[in-house]
Amino acid sequence: MQVNTHLQQLKGNYLFTEIANRTQAYQQAHPEANVLRLGIGDVTLPLPPVIIDAMHRAVEDLAHAETFRGYGPEQGYHWLRQAIIDNDYTPRGINLTPEEVFISDGAGSDLGNLSELFDAANSVAILEPSYPAYVDTNRMAGREIIWLPCLEEHNFYPDLPKQKADIIYLCFPNNPTGTVLTRDELARWIEYARTNHSIILIDAAYEAFIEDPNIPHSIYEIDGAQEVAIEIRSFSKTAGFTAVRCGYTVVPKATGLQAMWSRRQCTKFNGASYISQRAALATYTPEGKAGIQANLNSYKQTARILSAGLCALGYTVYGGKNAPYIWCKTPDKMDSWAFFDRLLNQCQIVCTPGVGFGNAGQGFVRFSAFSNRKDVEEALKRMKTLA
Ligand code: PLP
Repeated sequence: MQVNTHLQQLKGNYLFTEIANRTQAYQQAHPEANVLRLGIGDVTLPLPPVIIDAMHRAVEDLAHAETFRGYGPEQGYHWLRQAIIDNDYTPRGINLTPEEVFISDGAGSDLGNLSELFDAANSVAILEPSYPAYVDTNRMAGREIIWLPCLEEHNFYPDLPKQKADIIYLCFPNNPTGTVLTRDELARWIEYARTNHSIILIDAAYEAFIEDPNIPHSIYEIDGAQEVAIEIRSFSKTAGFTAVRCGYTVVPKATGLQAMWSRRQCTKFNGASYISQRAALATYTPEGKAGIQANLNSYKQTARILSAGLCALGYTVYGGKNAPYIWCKTPDKMDSWAFFDRLLNQCQIVCTPGVGFGNAGQGFVRFSAFSNRKDVEEALKRMKTLA
């Protein structure tokens, strides 16, 4: 037996372990401290009652012979796939069929699993800084990575790859920088992919945070995208489903990959749970839409307060407008971890060091709006006193 040496050589998830270790050490040394956690990318608000009711009803269905369910379709229930098309795509003028929508247990799994569609010899272009899953997945598969630095001087927009990239991971609204892509920017990527016979995997986990009417919510709003793009979405941040687990991936037939993905899912995935799919369906009811919008509005308000407050304190900040993340430049070019330590030790605030998302994130930290107004206002008050 030979282990997968690519996987074996992956370093531990240093970023979040290190944040947890440093926070725990501080908390142990200062048990009385009220540590404000503004780093995490996890939702904090409870689910709207209509979604909870839907899950209760789904559990009840399983309790009675007449309504009991066993395995569902591997690709997801038709009623959910249709609801996704009717609510998320048709109103934006996008034509898709339910067979092109695959229900998942969240974006994380599919972002990893989609890599199985492609030969190990493909080159992969990945934004830097970026959400770590794209890098780790492709390292596990032993692929060559082409880095696409997203730098402050270019407003964190990546340049098109200089060499041919077969697979391109995009993430917009971006985690961690909060950048969004305009219609023209997306069109450039589609053009690149069409010319180079590449495939774009676009992670749209934060789509629900887009407020600017000029920013497309889906890559398929741009002509030609269905031939070259797979869109990965999640109910995690849109609807507060990080514990429930449900998402979906659109693999248009025009990519030539839909049948292969369906085949792969039938073998390796027995479907998202009936209960979480019922919960996801409830997000499209009028009460569900109102409930999740109220939660999103609360996070968006937190983002605005945090962003404006940091600006008022003299920090240079990006993002926070169409995204839940605020990308904040450290003062005096301070190292990301040094600023993390300063915030923790002097203000009892936890942020996420930007360098943890890749070297291009050095000199930045990420604040998250998945918090509440009270904590953010308290954090800003404490940061005023920062020496
Ligand atoms: N993509 C991005 C950019 C994320 O930030 C996250 C989670 O934080 C995910 C995907 C994973 O989401 P899910 O909960 O749907 O697996």
